[in-house]
Amino acid sequence: MPDRFPPPVDRPLPTDEARDLLALVRDLARREIVPTAAEDEEAGRFPRELFTLLSEAGLLGLPYDSAHGGGDQPYEVYLQVLEELAAARLTVGLGISVHTLAAYPLAAHGTEAQRAAHLPAMLGGGLLGAYCLSEPASGSDAASLRTRAVRDGDTWVITGAKAWTTHGGIADFYTVMARTGGEGRRGITVFLVPGDADGLSAAPPERKMGLKGSPTAQLHFDGVRVPDARRLGEVGQGFAIALAALDSGRLGIAACAVGVAQAALDEAVAYARDRRQFGRPVADFQGLRFLLADMATRVEAGRALYLAAARLRDAGRPFAAQAAMAKLHCTDAAMRVTTDAVQVLGGYGYTADFPVERYLREAKALQIVEGTNQVQRMVIARHLVGPETR
Ligand SMILES: Cc1cc2nc3c(=O)[nH]c(=O)nc-3n(C[C@H](O)[C@H](O)[C@H](O)COP(=O)(O)OP(=O)(O)OC[C@H]3O[C@@H](n4cnc5c(N)ncnc54)[C@H](O)[C@@H]3O)c2cc1C
Repeated sequence: MPDRFPPPVDRPLPTDEARDLLALVRDLARREIVPTAAEDEEAGRFPRELFTLLSEAGLLGLPYDSAHGGGDQPYEVYLQVLEELAAARLTVGLGISVHTLAAYPLAAHGTEAQRAAHLPAMLGGGLLGAYCLSEPASGSDAASLRTRAVRDGDTWVITGAKAWTTHGGIADFYTVMARTGGEGRRGITVFLVPGDADGLSAAPPERKMGLKGSPTAQLHFDGVRVPDARRLGEVGQGFAIALAALDSGRLGIAACAVGVAQAALDEAVAYARDRRQFGRPVADFQGLRFLLADMATRVEAGRALYLAAARLRDAGRPFAAQAAMAKLHCTDAAMRVTTDAVQVLGGYGYTADFPVERYLREAKALQIVEGTNQVQRMVIARHLVGPETR
């Protein structure tokens, strides 16, 4: 079995604090995540206690304001933390990314009173979040969502169904996009719904091809009442808020994809050095050397692309198109690199004795979540040539 702990990725980080943070995260990943990752994924076990630990360590609020319990880290640093954690186990990296996405509408659009009331517990108090946009009949066309919120005095009554909710059924809070007005994107509002709200229930998790430790479930809202104090942003502003959250969230998915691809590359390199055929290590054969070189180039290009987009975001510049490009490129690269890693390991790569077949199954999900890669191309094209004419 090859060495599971390859040398760390050489990362030019902006501060000593960031260097210490990355070292701490790598150490935590080796001790607390990697040893049980394969077994837990096979068994479909979500590591809830690990998320409590990560919250205590300040890793569930890294890019947010320290005045509300966040870590004050630039996206450039936060994403590299995500990459390391996703390389250890995607359920963990993706979980943090989704939690961070779910906190965005409150952090960016909540009132000061709302932020003071809820953010500290969300960012460092052990709570876990979920983001509820997709529905059974609306995925890519998210603006056609049907879950409805109707005002009743000082409360809103939410009725409908959400699909594919990561952490569905186990989250402590749900950031929910619901229809409060007419058809289309202007009729949507965001609500912060507590996990134990009356009338809220979850179906059993979907039976997925990978990411089995990360529960993905349908949610049912049966007259769920939330006070108006839990409405985030203005009535009718919800779709714009949801999309802004996804611009940042997509960078998280890109970083997770690079983590999975790096893990697959490390495994392939170690195996190719160790495995002998025709009296030599298979790493001697040019056919395999070129494959490994292409894999490494895809990983480096992906990292450079998501970091370039993150630095635009950190500088307060527009970054939506670059975030879509990073998500598109990094997740396609992860699919390709994990597929090639299975090839490098030959028959052994196709078995569960090595992690590369799991990485391949996990990479596939990343081409779909937070906007399929077709949707990313639509976003990029809109920035190039403007909106479609019909
Ligand atoms: C593991 C996992 C976790 C997820 N977690 C969450 C979550 O936490 N919260 C959440 O809200 N959602 C979540 N999702 C849902 C995810 O965001 C949707 O699956 C995704 O947006 C696609 O929607 P859909 O599945 O309904 O596919 P559809 O929208 O029905 O698309 C079907 C196919 O048509 C293509 N397509 C659609 N429209 C166009 C177009 N105009 N041009 C070209 N091609 C098009 C799509 O790319 C796709 O290939 C999750 C999904 C998965 C698999």
